[in-house]
Amino acid sequence: MQNRLATLLKTIFLPSLSTMPGWRNGIREGLKILCPQGLVGPSPTPGTMNAADIKIPRDVKAYSEDGRPAIGELYAAYLELGNSPGFVVEKIYDRIYSEPEKTLPVIAVKTLEAGKSIWVISGIHGEEPAGPVAIARNIKIFIELAKKGIPLIVLPLCNPAGYARNWRYLFDKKNYDKGRSIGDSDHLIPDEKNSSMPHLPEPSNHDSEIFTEWIVKTASVYPPLIVIDLHEDDPETILDPTESLRFPHSTYVYSHGELGAGDPIAKEIVKILKKNNHKLAPDGAETRFGEKIVGGIISGAKDYSVDHLLSSREIFYKGKKIAGPSAKSVVVVETLTEGPGMSFENRIKTHGEILDSLERFWGMAGGQAIKP
Ligand SMILES: [Zn+2]
Repeated sequence: MQNRLATLLKTIFLPSLSTMPGWRNGIREGLKILCPQGLVGPSPTPGTMNAADIKIPRDVKAYSEDGRPAIGELYAAYLELGNSPGFVVEKIYDRIYSEPEKTLPVIAVKTLEAGKSIWVISGIHGEEPAGPVAIARNIKIFIELAKKGIPLIVLPLCNPAGYARNWRYLFDKKNYDKGRSIGDSDHLIPDEKNSSMPHLPEPSNHDSEIFTEWIVKTASVYPPLIVIDLHEDDPETILDPTESLRFPHSTYVYSHGELGAGDPIAKEIVKILKKNNHKLAPDGAETRFGEKIVGGIISGAKDYSVDHLLSSREIFYKGKKIAGPSAKSVVVVETLTEGPGMSFENRIKTHGEILDSLERFWGMAGGQAIKP
């Protein structure tokens, strides 16, 4: 109970969204959703909703050539989790995905109990379906973790319009040089060369402004101890440093946490990838962004992503530098969307095994369960 009271107080005293510069309709909609009952409604975590109140349009035309399930099927599973004892659903905002205007909600499913927590993020890039499907198939894992008193934030499908279209970014199918992502956090993270300024003065897009605002607010109530962000990648993108030699069908993970390439959780995830026949990129190989891979792990990547944000010790918020979410362990998992043995089922199974290891990872990171 004390914990819930603390949660409520922290939420009330966080800076209000309404002081943010406008993104007009999007922000107004976001505000309505975040505060449906005012700040002191009956819910212990203001901004949460009944899963039954979240409406998914029936006629979403979704890409299905790779065998991915219909979007309604995924939401049904996520809302079932949100309806389970100890959980609530929060709608972060409605993502417009078609003209005339239709929307899909970007949701979080979280435990009622707040505190140091595990965050699971998925579906940031729309052409990477294995993570969102693995979460939908494994909601029991989260129910068991909650029963054990482990606070959770699950963001199962962060870019639902991208999933429906098989598009990586919000407005582009794929353009690595100028694609804008829901997770872009450049406006919040100190610049690598001049830490007295954020990397970019403004958010790269209005969706990421709303999304990352939610991330920062939520991280102050559910401080992330472990973050697992489930991604996938193209099979032909790993290069040697001269960019003359490719290492096809090889993969890697990112470790953004304080232990970098030495993070035992990142190493365990590399083991799970190997066990499921994912070939790790050789030491010294690089991604298309010039990030060096050692032991299957990229550490120290300054990509201004939501993962970088969640591991940051300092961030900018409303023009001031404040303490960042400082997650101890942040691992971005990459399975390959094509290649020998890389069937959709194997990729989903791999992500599922990582989810099934969360309790072990929690113990490795020194997580303390909340006692009822
Ligand atoms: Zn990705």
